[in-house]
Amino acid sequence: MPLRVTRREVEAFVGEHHDWIQQRLATEAQRDKLRLRIEQGGRILYKARELLLHFREALSDAVYVEDDLLVIQGRGLRGEKANTRATKILAGHLQAEAQASVVARVHALAGHLQLAGQIKDVRFRKTKTKWGHCTSTGVLQFNWLIMLAPNAVVDYLIAHEVCHLKHLNHSKAFWALVESVCPDSQRYIGWLKENEQRLYF
Ligand SMILES: [Zn+2]
Repeated sequence: MPLRVTRREVEAFVGEHHDWIQQRLATEAQRDKLRLRIEQGGRILYKARELLLHFREALSDAVYVEDDLLVIQGRGLRGEKANTRATKILAGHLQAEAQASVVARVHALAGHLQLAGQIKDVRFRKTKTKWGHCTSTGVLQFNWLIMLAPNAVVDYLIAHEVCHLKHLNHSKAFWALVESVCPDSQRYIGWLKENEQRLYF
């Protein structure tokens, strides 16, 4: 509410935009309901499947799918700090998975496009606003939360960042190169737009 607005003006605004406000509140409530919370029984969108989080006390850390559950296993998953522990185990798992699969795929695609020599480093970092990034010096950075997305979406992101090694912009030539290696890219961009807020924790 701006400072120099009278109460009557506010009421008039609220009255006039009643439906819009109700709709926005409903959307927000829906978003909040879907927000990823790492807790026992919580819902998670994991590689495009709706799963329930299940904490399992065990000696070694692991994360795996079992029927409709995404099992997070390890020590300290029953006590007061269970959610914090589970968050750490899941984060560690996704980082390891990103390291193990994304780096090789980046190099393979860059090789195919004859851009392998341009890669200086492949890094992983959780950022709030970006899925990937490519610097003019050839450092490719990926948000490891992307490992919660379907493999095809991860491949699209890899294609996007690798193509930036040739075109450091979003020009027509850039998108043509992306399309040449990832013909369904619009679909994956759409998937990310629709679901990305569910991948953050
Ligand atoms: Zn880009």
